[in-house]
This record gives sequence, C-alpha cells and structure tokens, in this order.
Amino acid sequence: MSRNMSLKKNPMPVQDPQVRAHNFKEVATGYTEEMALDEAARCLGCKNHPCVGACPVNINIPAFIEKIVEKDYEGAYQIIHETSSLPAVCGRVCPQETQCEGKCVRGIKGEPVGIGRLERFVADWHNAHDTGVAIKPETNGHKVAIIGAGPSGLTCAGDLAKAGYEVTIFEALHKAGGVLVYGIPEFRLPKSIVQKEVDNLQAMGVKVETNMVIGKVLTIDELFDDYGFDAVFIGSGAGLPRFMNIPGESLNGVYSANEFLTRTNLMKAYKPGSDTPIQQSKNVAIVGGGNVAMDAARCALRLGAEHVYIVYRRGEEEMPARNEEIEHAKEEGIIFKTLNNPVEILGDENLHVKGMKCIRMELGEPDASGRRRPVEVPGSEFVIDVDCVVMSIGTSPNPLIKSTTEGLDTQKWGGIIADENGQTSREGVFAGGDAVTGAATVISAMGAGKAAAKAIDEYIQSKAK
Ligand code: FAD
Ligand code: SF4
Ligand code: SF4
Repeated sequence: MSRNMSLKKNPMPVQDPQVRAHNFKEVATGYTEEMALDEAARCLGCKNHPCVGACPVNINIPAFIEKIVEKDYEGAYQIIHETSSLPAVCGRVCPQETQCEGKCVRGIKGEPVGIGRLERFVADWHNAHDTGVAIKPETNGHKVAIIGAGPSGLTCAGDLAKAGYEVTIFEALHKAGGVLVYGIPEFRLPKSIVQKEVDNLQAMGVKVETNMVIGKVLTIDELFDDYGFDAVFIGSGAGLPRFMNIPGESLNGVYSANEFLTRTNLMKAYKPGSDTPIQQSKNVAIVGGGNVAMDAARCALRLGAEHVYIVYRRGEEEMPARNEEIEHAKEEGIIFKTLNNPVEILGDENLHVKGMKCIRMELGEPDASGRRRPVEVPGSEFVIDVDCVVMSIGTSPNPLIKSTTEGLDTQKWGGIIADENGQTSREGVFAGGDAVTGAATVISAMGAGKAAAKAIDEYIQSKAK
C-alpha cells in the first residue's frame, strides 16, 4: 500500500458558515469514502502506537485504520466496537486533539492522522448498512438498576445486558441520552444517532423508565429493599448549574446554560409551536469560555439573535473550549469579548434584562490551575446592550442522591467518591462519569460505565457463590 505523506489532514467538509448559522442541521457533513481512504493512508501503523494509550478506552486505532485501507469498513467498526459502544458519538465530539490525535506521531511534523474523523466515517458507514437487530441475551436472573441515561449509564447498561443481567435505567428526564440529548446541540450531534443506541439497548431487553427522579420518586434503598435489585450504578452526571452571585441574576432573561440548551435541544424550542418556548432575543451574552458556552452561543444565533457575545474573563488562549468549536463559532459570527467579566445584570421596569455591566480584566500571576489569574482593571466598567444572559461557568453533581442515600460518601464539591472500578462507600452501589469526576468528557464517562459494569458483574457473581 502506498502511504500518504501529506503533512495536512483531509479537511472535514462543513456547511457554509452563513447558511449553517441559520439552521440546526449538522455542521460537519463527514468524510466521503475517497477522503477516508486518503486519510487512512496517512497512518504509519506504528508498532508502539502511542495514539492507543491516549484514548481513554484504548481503541486499537492502527488496526481499525488498516481495515479502512483494506476497504473492510464493517471489520473496522467491529474493532472499534470491541472497546467503545458509542463510536458515532465519540467520532464527532471527542476532544481528539488532547486525546488520541494529541499523541499521533504524524503530529510531530505536520497534522496528526484524523482519527476521530475516520472513526465517525466507519460508524456512519455501519449505521447506514446495518440491518441486524440486537438479540436479547438469556437472563441470568439478577437485576441491576442504573440511575441516569447518559453515556456512563447507557454503556454500563449495555455491557450488563450483554452479560445476561435484567437492567432497568431510571432517567429523570422524559428522554434517554443525558447530555447527548439535552446539552450537545443537534448541529454537532444528530439526536437520531443517540436514539439508535437507546433502541439497541431496548432490543436487548434493557428497560428505560423515564420521568423517574431517583431520590424523589424512589430512593436507592427502595430499589434494593422493595424492588429486589442486586446492585445500583449511579450515572447521574453533573447537571447542577453554577451562578456568579452578582446582582440581577434573577431577572427574566437570565438562564443557566443547561436550561437554555435543554429548552433548545431537548424541548425543540426552535421549532414553531413547541410546548416549551424560549425567549426570542436580539442581543445575547454568554458568560464563560468552555464548550458549553460555545454551544449556547451558536444555539442563540440559530434561534435568531442579531448579536451574540462570548464574555470571558481570561484571554482566548486560556479558553477551555476546543479550538474547532471556537473557530466554528467565529466563522458563524459570534463576537468574542475576552478579558471582560460581568459585575451586574441590569433590568428594566418589567424586571427584564436590559444590559450587562462588565469590567475589563488583565492577566496577572499564574493561579493554582497554572493559568494566569485575571485581575480587574479599576474604573474600566462598561455596559453591553443585551436582552438575554446565559451563565455558562460550570456545573456540579446534584446533591439529591447523596442526601437521600445512607452511607454514600461524596467530595466537598458534591462528586461521589468511587474507586477506579466505580465502587462507592456503600456496598452494591457503584458510580461513574461526571457524577464522580465533575464535568468531563463523553468517552471518559463511557469508560467509567464499562469499568463499573465489569465490577458489578464480579460483585454479583461473587455474592451468588
Ligand atoms: P450525563 O450525560 O450528564 O447524564 C446523566 C443523566 O442522569 C441525565 O440524563 C440526567 O437527567 C440523569 N439524572 C440526573 N439525576 C438523576 C436522578 N436523581 N434520577 C434519575 N436520573 C437522573 N464532552 C465531550 O467529550 N465532547 C463534547 O463536545 C462535549 N460537549 C458538551 C456540551 C455540553 C453542552 C455539555 C453540558 C457537556 C459536554 N460534554 C462534552 C461533556 C459530556 O457530555 C459529559 O461529560 C458526559 O455526558 C457525562 O456523561 P454522564 O453519563 O456521566 O452524565
Ligand atoms: Fe480518539 Fe475518542 Fe475515538 Fe478514543 S474514542 S480513538 S479518544 S476519537
Ligand atoms: Fe497511526 Fe498516528 Fe497511531 Fe502511528 S500514532 S499508529 S500514525 S494513528
């Protein structure tokens, strides 16, 4: 086979920025077969494959890329699927630049192999050609409850169902998928992809009980004592929003990013006649500089805002959002107001947002995170004319489960304490994903769900002996 020694990755085809800024269709349209073959030929098939160790679930990257070169796309899919149950999702949303691609040797002199793009190609090819229906395995008579239908819970459920467990997922919202359906917008991750995974789980016999807030409708103790579950996995995420505690945060027109995104994505507020509307805003400020802030800003633009500002207290270099998301947001016309921090949200006589007072910042000495600390510039306050403010400054796990579960230890900030197999301080109770780590990534949540499924299997089998 002839290698492709181009220093550049095959670019990802995308919708034109001017067009996509007004629709919710997927921005990146995916490699064609020709592009995938050309990109796959850039992989050197390194013996020590550093890329594999940098993937949180250790996908055998050179092996699946080799299958692409051979045009055996289903074979490539099966290799990925051995360790990842959500390749169509991870190929789209993994921060590859800090994971697998960050360690690719082709990245030393030039751009790394487009591993994520190839993973997406393979997963989409499989989904387009797959006619197989998931088979319901024979039951082993043991029951496991999963709290939360995000990537950690779905993965844990899938692995346990394959091993013969009777699995029930309890999900607080009316739809399964966690952040994949309520947070990440359709234009980055089409919801049909997530639904296919949920349908597969259900075909394997997994029960999905929606509108079930554990800690309110039922407690973990009741799951054990009244419903006979042998073990419980908590994958309840970190969905509790933080606010800045500045004056004006309770005005109409101030949202947390979670509420704003849930209304837009899950409740389809952008569709005319939606049951859960969202305010039509002209000028929107998003406070924060992470991926969530970029998603909220790009949604606000698509909902029809004329001006959308990202207000962030550090500089662009310090922004935690992925470069690709920052670039996409800029191309679409989002205005970046870095080195600025809100001090007050101003309201009109109807208690509706009419502006946001900010102060300019400059960077001082590095803080505990190693990033230079933003410091206020005295007397530099100014007002931005906005009628909507979205706070996107982080989230933490909701304390509901902790407060209703005897003997479940948590960190001060709310994270459930669990070892690398998900074992918590309470026998039979396992946990993983954002509920344990705080806001992280889809693939790390999935990895935690996998590790916990293995540990739950071992726990139940050892008790059954
Ligand atoms: P979640 O996905 O949060 O799922 C938890 C589920 O538990 C939710 O459905 C919730 O409703 C349910 N739940 C909570 N409490 C209860 C209860 N008491 N009873 C029953 N159910 C309950 N990561 C990436 O890798 N790439 C990205 O591009 C990316 N973009 C993101 C964009 C946004 C807007 C957000 C918010 C996050 C993003 N992330 C991204 C992070 C990633 O989505 C999360 O790390 C991941 O979803 C965590 O998975 P999880 O299973 O732990 O929790
Ligand atoms: Fe890379 Fe994510 Fe795929 Fe792992 S799952 S190979 S980190 S894109
Ligand atoms: Fe291929 Fe890069 Fe991995 Fe080497 S490090 S095997 S070139 S993807």
